[in-house]
Amino acid sequence: MTEIVQKENKILRNIAKTVPIEEIKSKKIQGIIADMKKSLSGQKDGVAIAAPQIAESLRIFVVSGIVLKEAIKDEKLTGEDMVFINPEIIKISREKKMMEEGCLSVRYLYGKVNRAIKVLIRAYDEKGNLFERGASGLLAQIFQHEIDHLNGILFIDKASNVEEIPPENFK
Ligand code: ZN
Repeated sequence: MTEIVQKENKILRNIAKTVPIEEIKSKKIQGIIADMKKSLSGQKDGVAIAAPQIAESLRIFVVSGIVLKEAIKDEKLTGEDMVFINPEIIKISREKKMMEEGCLSVRYLYGKVNRAIKVLIRAYDEKGNLFERGASGLLAQIFQHEIDHLNGILFIDKASNVEEIPPENFK
């Protein structure tokens, strides 16, 4: 399993590169996506992962299908992981809310981050199709956290009340 890069690693601070659309179906990009899914499924508390977290400085993130299914009550969702390539926020609510946050690359710190309660993003899926997805609540928070990763930003840069909660204290 690909190891998840931790916060001291400078790769997390790079602005990740745009994926050329014609390369989305390439072995290289498909392999990176497969590695991301595998790494994500290896984390009990993993809701999403960005490519820089497996040391690939590319604009890709994956949201866990299980989390998606819970966040969006849409019967059409199969529970499969959802891939976002070259995501862009095209609409964002002015209204914000302090939300509890953690990160697979920032073990084991947690804090509160002010996040917009609604966003609309546009991205390519793993087949190279452009799509839009609106989100609120947890999913909107995930989108903002993951896009921050692609811009070299970690939640601890923005968080308040950061505290350490060792994994043995998890419920
Ligand atoms: Zn993260």
